[in-house]
Amino acid sequence: MRRPLVVANWKMNGSKSANAGLVADFLASWQGVHQAEVAMCAPYIYLPQLADSLAESNVGVGAQDISVHEQGAYTGEISGAMLAEFDCRYAIIGHSERREYHAETDQLVAEKFVAAQKAGLAPILCVGETLAQRDSGEALLVIGEQLKAVVDHVGRDSMSSAVIAYEPVWAIGTGRTASPEQAQEVHHFIREQLGELGGAVRILYGGSVKPGNAEELFSQADIDGALVGGASLVAEDFLAICRAAE
Ligand code: PEP
Repeated sequence: MRRPLVVANWKMNGSKSANAGLVADFLASWQGVHQAEVAMCAPYIYLPQLADSLAESNVGVGAQDISVHEQGAYTGEISGAMLAEFDCRYAIIGHSERREYHAETDQLVAEKFVAAQKAGLAPILCVGETLAQRDSGEALLVIGEQLKAVVDHVGRDSMSSAVIAYEPVWAIGTGRTASPEQAQEVHHFIREQLGELGGAVRILYGGSVKPGNAEELFSQADIDGALVGGASLVAEDFLAICRAAE
């Protein structure tokens, strides 16, 4: 069985005091063993703070990106080994904001996927279509290509320890959510593309997940949890989403 997973993506938000408050408020109600696994992905600079504050908990730490390089003259980059040193378990790879604002190509995303696995981190590979692509009936084609670029590069077996996040670009931070049926269709398609391994890979939905829509999304057969942006910055909301995944 696939263990539900809910991942917070703080994006470029937070401060030392806000992070401390958010984590303390969340942990006050999320103690002990849970059916759902939870992780929080913070900006790089806050990872040591996050790792310290989650050290005694069952909540994992993740990064929002990773360098393709292991070390050297790559100013501003952070390697997988560095992330592992700060207890990172996950790295988000190919988020649509990085694909769009940092011109990350499918090839670069595939290389980052390898870098994460080499360092012992589980990649959370983001795929998803724009509104124009959905409206022109190309959603599955686009997602299939994004997935294939990574599978061709790393080999299908390497997907077994990965997490995939389906994030329709038009639903991220917009308040618009894919309907549970729309999301289920894509999740099922992704699972099919992975062949025999598909049944074991966790596929998360991301795009304006809130306490009010989480339960219905999680009730779909192929939705194993969520990647949560905005709502992960409010302890009570994130908690409600995590509870809905149990
Ligand atoms: C995200 O950025 O991964 C995301 C899903 O954001 P939001 O929940 O705010 O739509």
